Amino acid sequence: MYVKRRKRKGVLTCPHCGSADLYYEAGLITGYKYHCKKCQYIGAFVIEKDFEEEKGE
Ligand SMILES: [Zn+2]
Repeated sequence: MYVKRRKRKGVLTCPHCGSADLYYEAGLITGYKYHCKKCQYIGAFVIEKDFEEEKGE
């Protein structure tokens, strides 16, 4: 069996529009940023969603 409750690698989504169409962009001093293709959001903050939607906990 393969049951783990550990956090897996999720998908990164835009906090603005919820799209997963993000790409990583190299910043200058601030480091890396994400850029949303859909709404043009740019920022270091994105929402990581798990692939599996587990109930409970
Ligand atoms: Zn977006």
